[in-house]
Amino acid sequence: MSFSNLGLSDKVLAAVAATGYTNPTPIQEQAIPHVLSRRDVLGIAQTGTGKTAAFTLPMITLLEKGRARALMPRTLILEPTRELAAQVKENFDKYGAGQKLNVALLIGGVSFGDQDLKLSRGVDVLIATPGRLLDHTERGKLLLTGIEVLVIDEADRMLDMGFIPDIERICKLVPFTRQTLFFTATMPPEIRRITETFLHNPVKVEVSKPASTAVTVTQSQVGVGREAHEKREMLRQLLRDAKDLKNAIIFCNRKRDVAVVYKSLQKHGFSVGALHGDMDQSARMAALDQFRKGELPLLVASDVAARGLDIPEVSHVFNFDVPHHPDDYVHRIGRTGRAGRLGTAISLVSPADQKSVAAIEKLIGQPIAHSDVAPVAVSNTPRPPKEPRAERASEDRKPKRESQRSRGGRNRTRKPEAAEMPVAAQPASIGRAMPPLSREPHEPGDHSHLPAFLLRPIRARG
Ligand code: AMP
Repeated sequence: MSFSNLGLSDKVLAAVAATGYTNPTPIQEQAIPHVLSRRDVLGIAQTGTGKTAAFTLPMITLLEKGRARALMPRTLILEPTRELAAQVKENFDKYGAGQKLNVALLIGGVSFGDQDLKLSRGVDVLIATPGRLLDHTERGKLLLTGIEVLVIDEADRMLDMGFIPDIERICKLVPFTRQTLFFTATMPPEIRRITETFLHNPVKVEVSKPASTAVTVTQSQVGVGREAHEKREMLRQLLRDAKDLKNAIIFCNRKRDVAVVYKSLQKHGFSVGALHGDMDQSARMAALDQFRKGELPLLVASDVAARGLDIPEVSHVFNFDVPHHPDDYVHRIGRTGRAGRLGTAISLVSPADQKSVAAIEKLIGQPIAHSDVAPVAVSNTPRPPKEPRAERASEDRKPKRESQRSRGGRNRTRKPEAAEMPVAAQPASIGRAMPPLSREPHEPGDHSHLPAFLLRPIRARG
C-alpha cells in the first residue's frame, strides 16, 4: 500500500514525499480513507504508531476546500499537554507547507492577547489543551459552532489528568453534526462511556494490543534498597555501565523526584535535562529541544510531561520509580524500541515495588527479567555533603500519582498544568544550558569512568 492510494490531495502527497515517508503506517492506512469519507473514527493506538499523521494528513486534505471565519475555527484538536499540542502544530506546519493554513495553539503559558488576535483573524486548525480552550470560550472570544472536525487525542491520558469533565463540556459546545476522531492507547470503562456518548457510528481502528510492548525492547529489573540515595547510586552505576547507551529518559513517579534526580545527576557530572509540569513553557521546550538534538543525552521526566512526546531513537528508558499504574509502564518503555529499532528498558525495583511489578507483568503478559547488577555498596560510598531537602520531605510520604491529585473535575480557576503538585526544590537551571562539566563533583573521584558523550560540554544559549 502506498500513500497515493489513500485519497489524500496532491499537495499533501507532495508534502509527505518531502518528509521521506514511503509507506503509510498501519493506523494511517486504516484510518485515513475513513477520515476522508467523513466517518467518525475510534483509533486505538499508542504514540509511535504514526497516529498524528493519521489525522493531520486527511484533515489538511479536507481543509483545502473552504475558508476560516473570524472567531470560528473550522477544526479543533484537543491534546492533554502543551508539548503534545505544540508537536501536533509542527505536523501541520510540515505537512501543510505552502497551503496557507491558519493554525493556532491555545495552550497555557502563552498570553491571551496574542491568542485572541490569532483567533480574530480566522483559524483553520485550533489545537488546544482543554482548560485553556474553555477559558477562551468563557471569555466570549471563541465560538465552537463552526467546528467541522473534532479530534480528541490521547484520551486515556486526558482521563488520568482529570480532563474528562472538560472534554464532555467541549463536546456539547461543538455542533452535533461534526466529525469526531478519537484516539486512545487504552479503553478503560470511562473512555468507553465517552466514545459511546460522543461518537456516531465510529469506525474502529486498532493497530496493536493496548497492553503490548514492542519485541525490540529488552526489559529488565534491578533490585535496589528502599532509600532514595541508594536508588540514585544504582541509577548512576547503570548509566555508566549501560551498553550502547546513546540517550535515555529516566522516569520518576513524582515531580519533586524529577527535580531531585535531575539535580543529583547534574552534580555527578552527567549532561542531563528535566521535564515536568511545573516548568515554564520555554524551559520545557528548551529541554526537549536539547534532548532531541542530542545536546543533552539524558532527560529526567514525569509521566505527564513525557506522555506521547515524539522523541525518535531513544536507546534506553530507566524507571527510577516503578510506575503505580501498569499502563504507564507500557507508555514509558514505548519511548524506546520504536519503529523496529532496538531499545533497552531497565526498572529499579525496591522491595515496596513488588506488587506494582507483578501488576505490570500481568498486563504485558511476560515476566521482566532480573538483571545481575552488583548491589550498590552504600556503606562504602560517601554521601554528598548536603542532600536536597525535597527528597527527605518526600521519603515518608505515600506516593501519589500526579494525575490522581487532579481527579474529580476541574477547578475553573486553575490552569491544567496546575493539576500537578509544586516541586519543592526546583533546580534553577532546569531546561537551560548546562555548565561545562569540568567542575568538581560532590563526591570524591573523577569522571573518567563516564562515557565521553555524557561529559560533553553544553553550548550556552543566549
Ligand atoms: P506518532 O505516533 O504520531 O507520534 O508518530 C511517531 C513517529 O513516526 C514520528 O516521528 C513521525 O514523524 C513518524 N512517522 C509518521 N508516519 C510515518 C510513516 N508513514 N513512515 C515513517 N515514519 C512515520
